[in-house]
Amino acid sequence: MSNKTSAHAPQHLELEIYSNHMEKKFVMTGVMGWPVAHSRSPVIHNHWIQQYKRQGAYGLLPVTPQNLETAIKGLRALGFAGCNITIPHKVEAMKLVDWIDPLAQRMGAINTIVVQADGALHGFNNDGYGFIQSLRDAQPNWRADAGPAVVLGAGGAARAIIVSLIDQGATEIRVLNRTRAKADALAQEFGTTITALDWSARHEALAGAALLVNTTSQGMHHEPALDLNLTDLPADTLVSDAIYIPLETPLLAAAKQRGNTTVNGLGMLLNQARPAFHAWFGIMPDITPELNKIVINTF
Ligand code: NAP
Repeated sequence: MSNKTSAHAPQHLELEIYSNHMEKKFVMTGVMGWPVAHSRSPVIHNHWIQQYKRQGAYGLLPVTPQNLETAIKGLRALGFAGCNITIPHKVEAMKLVDWIDPLAQRMGAINTIVVQADGALHGFNNDGYGFIQSLRDAQPNWRADAGPAVVLGAGGAARAIIVSLIDQGATEIRVLNRTRAKADALAQEFGTTITALDWSARHEALAGAALLVNTTSQGMHHEPALDLNLTDLPADTLVSDAIYIPLETPLLAAAKQRGNTTVNGLGMLLNQARPAFHAWFGIMPDITPELNKIVINTF
């Protein structure tokens, strides 16, 4: 008996959905992290599931570091299409997948797993894509080779952003981190495009910059503002902050006050979600004003 003619068809379901739902795969995905309750990813992906009339769900997957291996291997057994990986698992998860995209390999972390038809787990990192796209959304003619980029911080977000800037054609990236050794390690790894400088040189390092990116935690909700003197910052420098809570960090507020164009971290967050949704649900979703509003209302 076809599903369409089943006597058990619930009356409130649309015929089209009911007729397809046994054939169509119900796509299960989520975000694996610890803690993970704060994640906005379910709001983003479930909005798109509704918008594009997909059959599926995106949930929170609170997984402790001790349970990470069992949880990742379990994706296959549970029939998941994949998941996002967030703090603190982005590096450790690399050891637990069957294949890593070369870009993610260079970034040294994965934020997305896609379960292949044969059950193999493939790891990707879309953070850099999200960052570059957020700059282009703010300034469509943005070019990585427009002039020196200053990146503050040398953690996971900085690595993804630096690799993407290099791939986009950046010619000079000044990296300044509180712990100098981490900036030196990045220069060692990624070559002469990168100049590692002392954290104390961050104010003067802004001179002549075409792009400034804050990837430190300074300026985040409950954290002190980034201690940065903008006197040497050119008026046309594009100023970006990976932080999205608050949407306008003290750095962005100060830069805006001086007339600089600013980009907050929400664009990076929304844009990194797009390729993952595409991989799991087969459609590249749009970032609409409505989605922006829905996510902002959760802050
Ligand atoms: P991480 O790997 O822990 O790196 C944190 C960075 O902040 C390090 O460079 C650290 O310097 C620096 N830092 C911490 N406290 C500092 C202080 N008091 N003064 C100066 N520097 C300090 O974290 P992450 O994953 O890169 O994340 C960094 C930021 O990016 C967070 O705010 C996060 O929310 C944001 N982020 C946003 C997105 C998005 O989609 N928008 C994605 C990823 C991350 P040391 O090396 O000296 O400790």
